[in-house]
Amino acid sequence: MDIFKVFTIESAHRLPNVPKGHKCSRLHGHSFRIELHVSGEPGADTGWVMDFADIKAAFKPLYEQLDHQYLNDIPGLENPTSERLAAWIWERLRPALPQLSEVVVHETCTSGCRYRGPTP
Ligand SMILES: [Zn+2]
Repeated sequence: MDIFKVFTIESAHRLPNVPKGHKCSRLHGHSFRIELHVSGEPGADTGWVMDFADIKAAFKPLYEQLDHQYLNDIPGLENPTSERLAAWIWERLRPALPQLSEVVVHETCTSGCRYRGPTP
């Protein structure tokens, strides 16, 4: 079974490696919608895979680093594409949340990235 919790971060960024004149090279912001998925079997007594509050608590330190920030200033996010952001979150969250199975980053309503960890 797969459960998920959704967070929204307001962040500014620019993409330094796009071709000259590309609109993403200019400073702009997004309301990134971040889905954190956790997989497991629901407990026989609890009936849940995990307390949603535990997902929120595990993500809190990262949320505080990302929300209302200029992403390019954050170590590891010098080129803050959705793909890089999803991997950045995965690498930092998985140790605290080993059941993490997927990080989804929605950059806009129609564009996003789904990451399930490094290819084995
Ligand atoms: Zn952008």
